[in-house]
Amino acid sequence: MRSLAFNPAGRLLGRIYMALALLIWLTACDRVTPAQPVDRPPPLLLISIDGFRHDYFDLVDTPALDRLVKTGLKADSLQHVFPTKTFPTHYSIVTGVHPGTHGIVANSMWDPVRESRFSMRNRDAVGDGYWYEAAEPIWVTAERQGLIAATYFWPGSEARIHRIRPTYWKLYDASARHSERVEQVLAWMDLPAAERPDLYTLYFSSVDSLGHRHGPRAAQVGRALADIDRHIGDLLDGLQARGLLGNMHILVVSDHGMSSVDLDRYIMLDDYLDLNRVTVSDWGPAAQIWATGQTVEDIMTALDGAHPNMRAWRAADSPARYRFGSHHRVPDVLVEADLGWMISNKPYIAGQGLFSLKGMHGWDPAWLEMHGVFIAHGPAFRAGLRAPAVRSVDLYALMSKLLDLQPAGNEGSLALFQPYLNATEDITLESHAFTCDGELLEARIGPEHMALYWREQAHVLDRLDSEAGRQFEEVDLRFTLISDAVSAYIDGEDLGDCKALAQ
Ligand code: AMP
Ligand code: ZN
Ligand code: ZN
Repeated sequence: MRSLAFNPAGRLLGRIYMALALLIWLTACDRVTPAQPVDRPPPLLLISIDGFRHDYFDLVDTPALDRLVKTGLKADSLQHVFPTKTFPTHYSIVTGVHPGTHGIVANSMWDPVRESRFSMRNRDAVGDGYWYEAAEPIWVTAERQGLIAATYFWPGSEARIHRIRPTYWKLYDASARHSERVEQVLAWMDLPAAERPDLYTLYFSSVDSLGHRHGPRAAQVGRALADIDRHIGDLLDGLQARGLLGNMHILVVSDHGMSSVDLDRYIMLDDYLDLNRVTVSDWGPAAQIWATGQTVEDIMTALDGAHPNMRAWRAADSPARYRFGSHHRVPDVLVEADLGWMISNKPYIAGQGLFSLKGMHGWDPAWLEMHGVFIAHGPAFRAGLRAPAVRSVDLYALMSKLLDLQPAGNEGSLALFQPYLNATEDITLESHAFTCDGELLEARIGPEHMALYWREQAHVLDRLDSEAGRQFEEVDLRFTLISDAVSAYIDGEDLGDCKALAQ
């Protein structure tokens, strides 16, 4: 990784340069048009619809999103990072770094260096830059290089990170009306050119909240999505009226999907561990455990094989593709339940009264039910483009490219998006189906990457061709296609004898 060191002189120079360039531009024009000045990139608007699972598009009509899909790029889904929780995944989207590296390892976490707790419900913690310092969000990259950022909510956007905040930002307020959010973004776009942002974020939480309360795909979730779509429709109309639609970039993402949960699938950790002798900093689909009163060894012995629907790892031994290793906030022991199963404790459940949770997220990002959405629209994206599932960790590289910024160090890559950027021709995807020892394996192949579907999981692999044929890889995953012969490894396991199914 490149150094993430703060560079105030560079930022100041960038600003002086921008101001001079603007002055020259303004004196050359006798009228301020809504278009961004020539030396600035097209503006970029990043919209997050929390908890929008990739398959919700057929729940209700979404004419506004359909408008973007029709004239832009849509990926089959968006694969996230571990754990698939709001703060970790949102921060990975804007930094291109996994939670195990950026240190927002959960919505609730323990910091053993500072000896303090973070909770997304604690306003002081959420607004404290300390928690976010191990990576650089795109708005900091933009502001450092002379652009202007405006955030209508995003995890981390209220904090000074590397001493920089977005020029315009908002304190999180879940009750802020959707119309108010849209109107504010449009009002920012109407500012004089020298004050007008280049990068905007917008965030909606209702699809997630109703998914938790009523379960994924419930009618209430559909209604929440339709409501957000109506407001995005108003936004698109506002952009069109300003001559911006088609001349700026819009990315629509979600931060994870949603899976059904019920009280019959709860694992009580206190059946196996004395909770007075450990510290558990996060509960749910995965639990984060600190060895405060007994050794890691003892915890592992107590949890190993304890419950058929739960696995425990020393943090360093967690699956390599989780990349959940290096930050000091990564706990000693990570425990994860199977999809749809939850890890909790008896006092908590006893204190809950009526059990009302019907949906949850936070499991392995490969579960298709944890995949979110991705739409990209604007001058770089040809109408009607489609892509196999893409990765959220690559979006920082994509946004840096769209904003013409030098990216800070990150763990993502532009490679899979490259063929889509300013494509002059349509891009066709290949779809293949195989049976491997009797089980279905499906492949969706794009120019530089593919998605592999196996047992309700979907993995994104990068193209890494060999001389013999086409090969795709990701850590612990490999897919090779040599004429009609296919071989596949998933999580290190050879899928065995695979045969193509007639299409
Ligand atoms: P999750 O259940 O992990 O999807 O968390 C969703 C919740 O995160 C939302 O309902 C909000 O209450 C909360 N949230 C989202 N963004 C922010 C933010 N910027 N600051 C504080 N809380 C937030
Ligand atoms: Zn969320
Ligand atoms: Zn949620």
